[in-house]
Amino acid sequence: MKFGGTSLANAPRMKNAARIILRYSPKNKIVVVASAVGETTDQLIQIAELAKKGNLQQARKLLSKIQASHLKIARMVAGRGETRELVSRLDQLNSELEQTVEGIAHLRELTSRSRDYLLSFGERLSTPILAATMSAMGLRSRALTGAEAGITTDDNFGEAKPLTEISYHQVHQRLDPLWGRRIIPVVTGFIAATVDGSITTLGRGGSDYTATLLAAALGADEIWIWTDVDGLMTADPRIVKNAIPLPYISFGEALELSYFGAKMMHPRALQPAGQKKIPVRIKNSSRPARSGTLVSASESSNGGKVVKAVSIIRDVGIVTVSGSGMMGAPGVAAKVFQTLGSNNVNVMMISQGSSEATISSVVANREVDRAVRALQLALMGQGYVDRIVAEKDACIIAVVGSGMKGTPGVAARIFTAVAKRKLNVRMVAQGSSEYNVSFVVSHKDGPEAVRAIHEEFNLGR
Ligand code: ASP
Ligand code: MG
Repeated sequence: MKFGGTSLANAPRMKNAARIILRYSPKNKIVVVASAVGETTDQLIQIAELAKKGNLQQARKLLSKIQASHLKIARMVAGRGETRELVSRLDQLNSELEQTVEGIAHLRELTSRSRDYLLSFGERLSTPILAATMSAMGLRSRALTGAEAGITTDDNFGEAKPLTEISYHQVHQRLDPLWGRRIIPVVTGFIAATVDGSITTLGRGGSDYTATLLAAALGADEIWIWTDVDGLMTADPRIVKNAIPLPYISFGEALELSYFGAKMMHPRALQPAGQKKIPVRIKNSSRPARSGTLVSASESSNGGKVVKAVSIIRDVGIVTVSGSGMMGAPGVAAKVFQTLGSNNVNVMMISQGSSEATISSVVANREVDRAVRALQLALMGQGYVDRIVAEKDACIIAVVGSGMKGTPGVAARIFTAVAKRKLNVRMVAQGSSEYNVSFVVSHKDGPEAVRAIHEEFNLGR
C-alpha cells in the first residue's frame, strides 16, 4: 500500500491512513510505502533554490515551516509513551536538514547529488510519523528508508534507475525477517541509494515506483495506491461534467494515459507491475469503500467500449520543418530529431506527410523557441529545408482504449465528432499499438474537443 502526499497531509489524514492499514492488516501481509507529507517535496525544492542563491534567511523561514508542521502532526498522532521518541527522531532529522541547507547556502552550489540528499528529508520525516501513528493503533511497525528496505540504484541523481536484480534480492533479505515478527515495514517512497550508500531519488512522483518495485521483489498479490481521487477517470472532471471513474484498465492503456498526462502513475512506475503482472488498484483514501480503478494485465472491454478515456496535454506547440528538397532525401528526419534531442527538446508527437515535404513535431510551449533556433542552425541553407515555422498555444488530445485495435471506423468517429463542433484539427498521429489516437487543436478548442469525444463514445455511461 502506497500513500500519496495528500493522504498524509495532516494529523487526521495520517490517522486515516493508519486506520486503512489496520483494517486490512489482519488478513493480509502489508508493506507500506509513504510519500512526503503534503507538498513537502515542492517546499524542499524551493528551499534548495533559495539556498543555492545564498538566500539563507528565506530558506530558513520555509524550513521552520516544514519542521513545525511535522512536529505538530507528530504530537497529535503518536501514542502517549511514544511522543518523546518520535519527536527526538524528528529533531535529529531536522538538524541534519538544517546543516544540509546551510552547506548548500555557503557553497552556493547545488549538485544533483546534494539536491537528492536534501529532497530525501521529505520521506524520511513522513515515515517515522506514519509508523508511530500505526503503533498508537496497536500495529507493530518499523520505518525504513528505501535503501534500508534494499532498493539500490545507479548514480543518476535526480532520476536514478533501480538495479533490479540486486534490489529484489536485498528486499527479500531485509523485509522477510520483519514479517516473521509480524512487524509492518513502512518504507520511504521516492528515495533509495547507490551501491556505496549515497542517497538517490527515483524522479518526481517516484513513490509509486518504490511501491511497484517492492511488490515485484516480494511477489505481492496486489499494489494499492491510495490517493485523493476515485481512480482514473474517463476524462478530466473539470472539463467533462459527467466523467466517471474507470473500473478496469489494462497496463497498455494505463501506459498510454500516463504518457498523456492523466493524473496517475508515471509510466516508469507501471513497469515492474506490468512485467510481473501484479494488478494495481488506485483508490481514494477518503472513500476507501469505493472500488477505484484496477489496472491489470487483462484487456477487459469495459462493456464493449472501444474508447475508454480521453485526456489532454496543454501548453504545447507545433514545430514544422518543410522544404521541397526533403522529398526522397534520406536522413532529414534523423537530423531533425537528433538536433531536437541534443538540445534537450522533448518531442511528444510526430507526423510526416507522405509527400515527405514536411515534418511536424509537438513540443512543450516553453521549448518551442529553442527548438526553432536549433533547427534553423542545423538545417537551413543546405538545400533540403527552406522553412521552419512554429505555432504555439495548442494542446494534444489523446483518445485511448485497447478496443480501438483492429476496429475500423474509430478514427472516422473521432474526427467527425470534432468536425461537427467546428474545431480545427492541426495534426494527427496514431501510435502503432493502436491503443491511442492523438491529435492537436488550438488551446482554446481543447476542452470542447475533449467533450466531443467523451460524448461521441458515451464515456459517461
Ligand atoms: N514526494 C515525492 C514527490 O512529490 C515523491 C512522491 O510523492 O511520489 O515527487
Ligand atoms: Mg508527492
